[in-house]
Parts: sequence; structure tokens; C-alpha cells
Amino acid sequence: MTRYWWFEKITPHYSHGYNVIPIYEKRTPYQHLLIYKNELWGRFLVLDGITQFTEKDEFIYHETIVFCPAASLETPPEKVLVIGGGDGGVIRELQKISEIKSILQLEIDQEVFKACQKYLREIAGDYSDPRVEFRIADGAKFVAEAPAETYDLVIVDCTDPIGPAVVLYTEEFYKNIARVLKPKGCFIQQASIPRFFPETLPMAYHRAQKAFPVVEILRAPVPCYGDEIAFILGSKTDSACKPRRSYHGKFYNPAVHQASFAIPSWWQDLLKQ
Ligand code: SAM
Repeated sequence: MTRYWWFEKITPHYSHGYNVIPIYEKRTPYQHLLIYKNELWGRFLVLDGITQFTEKDEFIYHETIVFCPAASLETPPEKVLVIGGGDGGVIRELQKISEIKSILQLEIDQEVFKACQKYLREIAGDYSDPRVEFRIADGAKFVAEAPAETYDLVIVDCTDPIGPAVVLYTEEFYKNIARVLKPKGCFIQQASIPRFFPETLPMAYHRAQKAFPVVEILRAPVPCYGDEIAFILGSKTDSACKPRRSYHGKFYNPAVHQASFAIPSWWQDLLKQ
């Protein structure tokens, strides 16, 4: 079996004691891309050494990042902007919402999209859907130039604030998101796993507060991450913690929606920093 440079370095963290079978590895112009599998989690996507998702539990993350904001809007979303999400999992969940008329997805790294289409296609939604437009682009540059009040929902399904996603955690980016959202729109963004990256959540939360009157935190228990992942949700009108519509997935439902907004005390302490 080929021995990749990363095999000894990264694998012990992700094998969870199971043997790991490498599937694909590439250093793209933006990040180090790795796909491999083990008996416990199935196939993994790992970028710059951080697990993005595994076959076994990716639905928890993708249902949360789509249905929590979509259910909280006064009227169902029609125009959606997705930044990141090169694996297509967010597109798959958005396509279950019949009122959505258009989805524009901006993924900066076409190598991620190509590798996921080849080795993880079951995760992805249907890119032949006429509602879906996919572009290779930097989400931060796009929103800086996009017209105001265009989208009902913006989903920032990005990597952690290292590499190409650093620009997606700035005050300027959040102010541009607020500008391109319609008055009753909202946005959601993954804010990493506080257990392992405690600085991301308070940084994203306080910077988003400079652009949105209402910024809330929610969480999802994704087992492969080793602890819960945080999201921030920004709205120009009111709280998102009560669902206005009832969507049901493998993980998500209206009761889970409300429970997602109950965050641990130590996360609240992180915000006081
Ligand atoms: N959906 C997965 C999960 O469950 O966490 C992971 C997210 S997806 C793989 C993260 C994507 O964000 C990557 O494909 C990365 O290339 C993309 N990305 C990072 N910075 C970006 C930017 N500035 N504009 C657009 N896409 C970006």
C-alpha cells in the first residue's frame, strides 16, 4: 500500500483505532486535500488536517446548517446563496425545500468539488437541477460586489479560519452578507468545534454582531468531530430559535431545532472573553 507523507502524521488522530485506507490525496492551490476511509466512519474528507465530514454522520451537520435557518424565516426561502460546501451536502438538503427557486453556490477550490464528485458523490445533491448554479469563486469577493437585498438565506459552509476561509470570518464579510440579504433574511456559518478551536466561536460571534442586530449560537452533535460543532446565525429581525415551519430529516426536527440553541455554560463563558 502506498505510504503518503501524511499517513503517519494525521492518521492516528482519525483512525479511531481502525485501520485507514487512503483513497485520494492532493495539495491544491488552496489547501491539502485528503480522502480516506475506515471501518468505523466510512469515507472522510479532510482539509488541511481537519475532518470536514464522514459518510456516517455528515447528515447531522448538513441538516442543521440548512433547516435551522430555513425553518426560522418568516416565509420560506426562495433565493439562497451557498459559500463553500464543495462536497454538495448542503445542496442536497436545500433541494428538499420545495419553495426554493434558486441556489447559487460559490466554492473556491475546484479540486474539492472534483474529488468529492468522484469519491463521495452520494453525499452531494443533484447539480443537474436547473435551480442550482455552481461557480468556482471566492465567496468574500463575490458578496463585496453583489447587489443589496438579493438573498433570503446565505449559508457559509466553509472550512475553519485558516487558509482560504480566513476572509469569511471578518467584520467586512459579515457586513457584506447583511447587505446582500433581504430585510427579513438570515445567514448561518459553521464556527468550528469550541473544544479544539476555542478562539473561533467568540471571534465569529463578536464580529458578526457588528453587522447583525441578532446573532445566535447553535450546536450539533457530530460524533466524528469528537465534540459538538458550533454555528452562528445572524438575522436582521428576530430570534431564530423557534421554528416557523416543521421540516423533518434523519436528525433534524422542530424539537431538535429548539434544543440546538441551548448552548453549554462554558461556551457562554467563551463569549465573555
Ligand atoms: N460540508 C462540510 C462539513 O460537513 O463541514 C465541509 C465544508 S466544505 C468541504 C468547506 C469548503 O469551503 C471547502 O471546500 C473550501 O474550499 C471552501 N472555502 C473555503 N474558503 C472559501 C472561500 N473564501 N470562498 C468559497 N469557498 C471557500
